[in-house]
Amino acid sequence: MTSRSYLDFNATAPTRPEVIDAVAEAMREGGNASSVHADGRAARARVEKARQHVATLVGADATGVIFTGSGTESNNQALRCDNIERIIVSAVEHESVLQARPDAVVCPVTPEGLVDLDALARLLEESEKSTMVSIMLANNETGIVQPVAEATQLAHNAGALFHCDAVQAAGKIPVDMKALGVDSMALSAHKIGGPQGVGALICKTPSMMPRFVHGGGQESGLRAGTENVPGIVGYGVAAECALAGLNDFGALANLRDALEEHVLAIEPSAVIFGKGLDRLPNTSKFATKGLTSEVQVMGLDLDGASISAGSACSAGRVETPYVLAAMGIPDEIGLCAVRISLGWTTTPADIDGFIAGWQKLHDRKLGKS
Ligand code: PLP
Repeated sequence: MTSRSYLDFNATAPTRPEVIDAVAEAMREGGNASSVHADGRAARARVEKARQHVATLVGADATGVIFTGSGTESNNQALRCDNIERIIVSAVEHESVLQARPDAVVCPVTPEGLVDLDALARLLEESEKSTMVSIMLANNETGIVQPVAEATQLAHNAGALFHCDAVQAAGKIPVDMKALGVDSMALSAHKIGGPQGVGALICKTPSMMPRFVHGGGQESGLRAGTENVPGIVGYGVAAECALAGLNDFGALANLRDALEEHVLAIEPSAVIFGKGLDRLPNTSKFATKGLTSEVQVMGLDLDGASISAGSACSAGRVETPYVLAAMGIPDEIGLCAVRISLGWTTTPADIDGFIAGWQKLHDRKLGKS
């Protein structure tokens, strides 16, 4: 490879040039969005414009959007409600859901990686306590899209609330919060080319959402702290670009599928997770027995490609990623899994370069050269 190939969009997407320009301009203009003078009012107008773009990205009302400091914070705010006695989460949720409520009841997934809706129905029947279900829309590691509309229906039929972590889905596939029926949704700017450290929590009924960060009355009293105006502005622009680019993003499935075909041609025993299921178009997670995740991530890195073994948050651990463990994948396969995630900068040359590097590694490690 002559230049590096960034193939780790699910960890973070490169910041879009339009976002960098908008953030720089907002920083130059300044202003506290809570101030009543003209500078403050101008900052407020920029925040409200961004709120509308973020809401439009997921078919929500702008009045329900609370800007937060990350997708992690959004999940924490939704789940750490004092008035909810019981939380049910799927076994493949992001750690920001799992760690927000370690007391949560865990709903299993099928060996394919889909939430087991029969198990969810049974868990919902088990208790009279006030309950919230939290299931992600698309998994960060496998890209598998979960049956959120069906799960929400089950939850609502049982009188439970439903929170959805849509951090990986929003801006990558069409998302319609109203059609899904969820009560709240977590989003993050940096997964779609916005700035890091900006997120959103979208609520169907904001008055029911308890505040999480205490202090001033910003974000309708639901998230204290001076709004990060440049970051929010950048998020709004990223949301606008992502919506306009949804078709192009969908077409990445062609590059992803070509990559998987090459991998299978080189190593027919490679296991591709979620193949044939509804998946994010940019994500491929596969494993080749005998070729460990570390060897692949480090070898490809030296060769000029950035890929990952699992979610960025769990990098550095030598164990089967819990998402794969929840699908019943044995260590001999789980410890050999890598994730390739594409985005708008990805070209066919990136895929060719990756395949050439991967083949070298494969042949060297598995004794074929
Ligand atoms: N939820 C999912 C599914 C994610 O993939 C991530 C980040 O990897 C998060 C939540 C956390 O988002 P943030 O990085 O904005 O805290």
